[in-house]
Amino acid sequence: MADVRFAGIGMTSARTRDRLVQRLREQGISNLAVLDRIRNVPRHIFVDEALGTRAYEDTALPIGFGQTISQPYIVARMTEALLEGGPLLKVLEVGTGCGYQTAVLAPLVERIYTIERVEPLVTRAKERIKELGIRNVRFRYGDGSLGWKAHAPFDGILVAAAPLVVPEELIKQLKVGGRLLVPVGGEGEQELIRFTRKEQRVERQSLGAVAFVPLLGGTT
Ligand code: SAH
Repeated sequence: MADVRFAGIGMTSARTRDRLVQRLREQGISNLAVLDRIRNVPRHIFVDEALGTRAYEDTALPIGFGQTISQPYIVARMTEALLEGGPLLKVLEVGTGCGYQTAVLAPLVERIYTIERVEPLVTRAKERIKELGIRNVRFRYGDGSLGWKAHAPFDGILVAAAPLVVPEELIKQLKVGGRLLVPVGGEGEQELIRFTRKEQRVERQSLGAVAFVPLLGGTT
């Protein structure tokens, strides 16, 4: 049963997914391992069944609780940008949501620590990740803007919601050489930034305009 469900048919089939991958290539995604994950992770199991036929459109879709599953292009772009600069052992993800980004990234790194502030989303994401046989992810229900001190420092940190200013604590929890990918800014004026921690300073690079849900404090 699981095989048929993951493989998909019609609008969730391999052909439909190949079209999405082709589109991402045309938009400049070139990391083959990342494109392979976009092709192989069944995005349709992360959304409501009614939205399944739209799962391989390059668009964000609602997942409940006022949140969205990120657009495939953004997931691919962030994953690619995080991987540039060397292998990643420990990665912190802030904003698990439905767990799609987690599933795309998981086999490309040694371990992911992921935090989400909406409890039912944590439960659902855990189920999906388990279903896919992915075993290198630790989940936490909490406020990710504080990072996850017990497991810091990280080689990479990926933030899937936009703060107005970058939480200092996340930069502190980066290893030297580590990268932090984070959308920064208010609605309609966000920019995706990659911070790279060097010995004596932090390098900042803009990767262009983006649109994410806001990073909120506390939990629900
Ligand atoms: N990564 C998801 C997209 C998640 S949308 C995907 O693959 O599609 C962003 C998520 O960040 C939402 O689920 C939201 O609840 C969560 N979020 C917002 N502020 C947060 C915070 N301070 N700590 C943890 N999660 C947060």
